[in-house]
Amino acid sequence: MLLRLALPTPLYRSFDYLCPSECLVHGKLPAVGSRALAPFGKKQLVGIIIAHINATDSDVPASKLRPIIDVLDDTPILSAQMLDFAGWLARYYHYPLGDTLSVMLPALISQGKPIHTPKTLWQRTSTPADGIAKSAKKQLACLELFCALPDGVSDTDLRLANISSQTLKALQDKGLIQKNTLKTTPNAPPTAQVIGEVLPPNDEQRSAIDTITQAIDAGNYQGILLHGITGSGKTEVYLQAMAHALAAGKQVLILVPEIGLTPQTKSRFGSRFAANICVLHSGLNDSERLAGWADCLLGQAQIIIGTRSSVLYPFANLGLIIIDEAHDGSYKQQDHLRYHACDVALWRGLTERIPVVLGTATPSLEQLKLAQNGKLHQCKLTKRAGAATLAQMQLIDIRQSTRAVMHQDGQAHDTTLGDDTVRQMRECLARGEQVLVFINRRGYAPILLCDACGWQADCPNCDAHLTLHKGHYTYLKCHHCGHQTAPPHACPECNSANLINLGLGTSKLAEHLHALFANPQISPISYPIVQIDRDTMRKKGAWERTYAQILTGAPMILVGTQMIAKGHHFPNVTLVVISDADAGLLSPDFRSPEHTAQRIIQVAGRAGRADKAGRVLIQTRQPDNPLLTTLVCQGYDAFAQNLLKERQMLGLPPFAHAALIRAESHDVAKARTAIAEIGKNLPKTHDIATISTDAPMAKKGGRYHVQFLLLAKNRKSLHALLDAHWLRLIDLPSVKAVKISLDIDPLGW
Ligand code: ADP
Ligand code: ZN
Ligand code: ZN
Repeated sequence: MLLRLALPTPLYRSFDYLCPSECLVHGKLPAVGSRALAPFGKKQLVGIIIAHINATDSDVPASKLRPIIDVLDDTPILSAQMLDFAGWLARYYHYPLGDTLSVMLPALISQGKPIHTPKTLWQRTSTPADGIAKSAKKQLACLELFCALPDGVSDTDLRLANISSQTLKALQDKGLIQKNTLKTTPNAPPTAQVIGEVLPPNDEQRSAIDTITQAIDAGNYQGILLHGITGSGKTEVYLQAMAHALAAGKQVLILVPEIGLTPQTKSRFGSRFAANICVLHSGLNDSERLAGWADCLLGQAQIIIGTRSSVLYPFANLGLIIIDEAHDGSYKQQDHLRYHACDVALWRGLTERIPVVLGTATPSLEQLKLAQNGKLHQCKLTKRAGAATLAQMQLIDIRQSTRAVMHQDGQAHDTTLGDDTVRQMRECLARGEQVLVFINRRGYAPILLCDACGWQADCPNCDAHLTLHKGHYTYLKCHHCGHQTAPPHACPECNSANLINLGLGTSKLAEHLHALFANPQISPISYPIVQIDRDTMRKKGAWERTYAQILTGAPMILVGTQMIAKGHHFPNVTLVVISDADAGLLSPDFRSPEHTAQRIIQVAGRAGRADKAGRVLIQTRQPDNPLLTTLVCQGYDAFAQNLLKERQMLGLPPFAHAALIRAESHDVAKARTAIAEIGKNLPKTHDIATISTDAPMAKKGGRYHVQFLLLAKNRKSLHALLDAHWLRLIDLPSVKAVKISLDIDPLGW
């Protein structure tokens, strides 16, 4: 028999090896799912044993077979089910199996490190302790510690008890204690307990909880779209459904979007459950990540809160998956294995026979279509829980306003805020409440332009303008590749000193707000203006300090990006202003209106969360834009239904299935040739449309991107085409000359 290994290589194949007798485990071949160290060319690679096969089934001639070097696990680290899962991921995303496994496994596991770092403890020997003089107080105190901790004393225990290394050495020399390495097989944790107050659910919550718990009890897959407006109490539904799974001794996985939500989420779950809560976020170092992974695998972790990649983890007995803010774009991985965590979660739910809950106020059009087709069971929460009411949205036509304001530089600037908006902001602040102003762009201004000749400050590496930043010092920065430079004093083309900045970012908007609300010459009271974006919150602890300042409830204006839109509770914010809603609606990206609406609803959800009613003012130059008016007058659901009809008419996702092939090269000609060759080598079929174009931002980070889009009515025929031809395409010489990638179900193109 031979061992078939998946190795971390970009090759779409597995590799067969002999198993030398010294690598047998208890006289048998090492189990499928264990790791093995294998020679690969002149290197050694850690691979996963994916099968035992007969020598006659191998394509490799017997004389060419090499033996593995070592087996790294006595028992498999991946179950048959996890290997199936890896196989599905590799097939669905057309990605090499070995590389797929590398994405799934923590770095230290891929490097061959043991799952557990063995624990070393000091332990008492059987030598009696009568030989110690009464005067050796420190040694006696140390022995007391050993009596108190009969299983052994760790170095941390010793440090906490202030025991010196001399004392320890003295006891060791007398043969009273010794250091032992223990193999840890942790005991199963006690069943999680509900400790916090359980809120009596309203009817809609009750029905959602029942749907989930019935699936848990029946051991059935159930995909559930928990479609609840902001503040409708989705979290309470999660908590009560979780209690059910936890009581049955099952693990619960909760996925959250990338943005720093995890600490807040942990405390929310921690105050409801006495349980082992494991938080898997992007800031973990390698050994923390390994520890978390092992806790999931061995069942130590009971509640797992994680970002996208946790959906790839192995679990001892998973009982429920919850995806919060399920419409969020961060659930799609944008490089390597380009999986979508929601799709992956649904597949896992199906194969592991457990419910998967997608919770959101603004489902993606894909999710709405799945619900309409009956593939997701929709549970709606239409009312705000508790006393809060939903904020009222209003469009503010900014074309007619007198919006100019004087800055400290003595120049007049356009505030882009309507007169009515400014008036309502003043009233809100005067009532002692807070205003949140949302803008989708950080920095000062997105464009620096020469008024004389039209020159613009562009990034040398990207097809993009440089953004002007003003703070302690002024600089131009590319938000795509990070290129940074000092702004010129005069136009590099015509030498004119008349350089002007156009457009609006957070810090310019904050300057407007200063001029309007914190200028003693205009307004008798000066209100704090708090700017919240990645630039101002970069320093450690900055967000915590700002958050505490907001929670004092004092009247102030918060101005910021995405960062303030997601998930946070600001009880005293009663007015939300959305600046520049038009940009997102005018963008050529077909998903842009959907994403803009989701953002507006999410930001709007920040208003009036407690007992105070909220208002949302949307600044627009197109107050008659049907998309906007539908959203404001009829709400997100009606808006989404309109968009769905439009997508159906245009044959766009979710009414078509897409795959995007991208070629990337320093040399634009090479990238274009590769894509042209791919086009020539793919057979034309009547049910798959193909479109080859330069990418929306063709040049990025000094590299050119050319793309080839496949758009199919039918998912199966798309995958059949790729199954039949992808490996041949990437073997074409012109394709090998560039970096090529395949994105299944891409979010945009
Ligand atoms: P969502 O996640 O849907 O935006 P939350 O779960 O944050 O909403 O709930 C909003 C508020 O409503 C929270 O303060 C929560 O404690 C409260 N809440 C939820 N369910 C109930 C209920 N059944 N009775 C009273 N208050 C509730
Ligand atoms: Zn010029
Ligand atoms: Zn750039």
